[in-house]
Amino acid sequence: MSNSDTKSVWQQYRSVSIVYRIGVAFVLGSILGLVVGQPATALKPIGDLFVRLLKMLIVPIVVFTLLMGVRQLSPSSLGRVGLQAVGLYAVTSALAVAIGLGVSNFISPGSRGLEQLLAQAEARSTEAPNAVEVVLNIVPTNPLGAMAEGNVLPTIFFVVVFGLGLSLVWEETDDEAVRSGIETFFDLADAGAEAMYKVVWGVMEFGVIGVFALMANVFGKAGVDAILPFALLIGTMLVAAVVHIGVVYLGGLVVGFAGRSPFAFLSGSRDAMVTALSIRSSSGTLPVTMSDADENLGIEERIYGFSLPLGATINMDGTAMYQGVAAIFAANIMGVSLSLADQFAVVAVAVLASIGTAGVPGSGLIMLTLVLTQLGFPLEIVGLVAGVDPILDRIRTMVNVTGDLAVTTVVAKWNSAVDFTAEAWNDGVVPSIAD
Ligand code: ASP
Repeated sequence: MSNSDTKSVWQQYRSVSIVYRIGVAFVLGSILGLVVGQPATALKPIGDLFVRLLKMLIVPIVVFTLLMGVRQLSPSSLGRVGLQAVGLYAVTSALAVAIGLGVSNFISPGSRGLEQLLAQAEARSTEAPNAVEVVLNIVPTNPLGAMAEGNVLPTIFFVVVFGLGLSLVWEETDDEAVRSGIETFFDLADAGAEAMYKVVWGVMEFGVIGVFALMANVFGKAGVDAILPFALLIGTMLVAAVVHIGVVYLGGLVVGFAGRSPFAFLSGSRDAMVTALSIRSSSGTLPVTMSDADENLGIEERIYGFSLPLGATINMDGTAMYQGVAAIFAANIMGVSLSLADQFAVVAVAVLASIGTAGVPGSGLIMLTLVLTQLGFPLEIVGLVAGVDPILDRIRTMVNVTGDLAVTTVVAKWNSAVDFTAEAWNDGVVPSIAD
């Protein structure tokens, strides 16, 4: 093969989106494991290397990306509308994780064929703390110690508090040197976050081989029984998404708070939902989400112009919900059950970390590293679920943008900034419930 042939094969390979390459690696690795059986487990060290690379990213990702998220959250720049939106975003995200946990506790997606796949010895060596300890442990006594030890929740907590402190000082101080120092600090975090995303994609490139090796190992050990849990994981996520959209968005926000028909809302939000499903990025969907808010749902720009870009950055209900689903999936595989305190910690990590999750394809998978670390579970699980992530990511992203629109509708109603005579509200299959 000539040099230019090699180059063009490589270019063709690179032109396929990384998530699809990982999907193919997932399938090929699984087939290898099924065909070869036990000897395929020899590939495990390659999978372990991928897992180490993921671990390396955790603390820097939290620090840089959360600082970037918090930069947008200073109370006075948000104002009343902003605080209403942020409040609803936080509450709906917490409910999403709870629904994810509830539905998957019910289905136990990982317990049919993969249970005890990862030796319990790899799991938590110590007894899980009780609920009071989990809450107390959110606050680090030594922030740098928490970072050095990779303790996720205290690190997140400190970064959020520190970031808010920086924003407040920036607003209040007259000292130009301090102001510009803070701006430089945030700019550095911005640069650091960009650099970390680059590294993440580099690690994901290696993840193609890593996921291949991990799946060969899983199917080499567990055989054909390992197929069902992955199908169940997708099914669980779908059920949780339908429950969340139906109960929280349609029942709670649209009918409860805005007093409108759920069908009208869905018909007005349709374009954004379909776009999110197809492109797997809430930031990428933003122009469509905005046009749905404006043209179909009759929301004024002064509300959606602020709440939708903010939502695309900090509001990730589908992503947060997935953390709950994946946590139970992981617990099933480990053959352990999550205590209530653990599940509370999952909610806290998912809600806080979603502030810093970027609305780009696959970012929810990186966030899963935080939740698994918090629970003391092996990050190998990220590699296992990465293969089906192209499907899960679609469901997550669709929930993410639907949540942004539902919250924006309510905030607009609260601020008399929505025209309920607009097209979608009247075109709905069912007439509006209230005016
Ligand atoms: N792709 C999602 C989004 O853009 C984030 C995720 O991976 O969960 O909203």
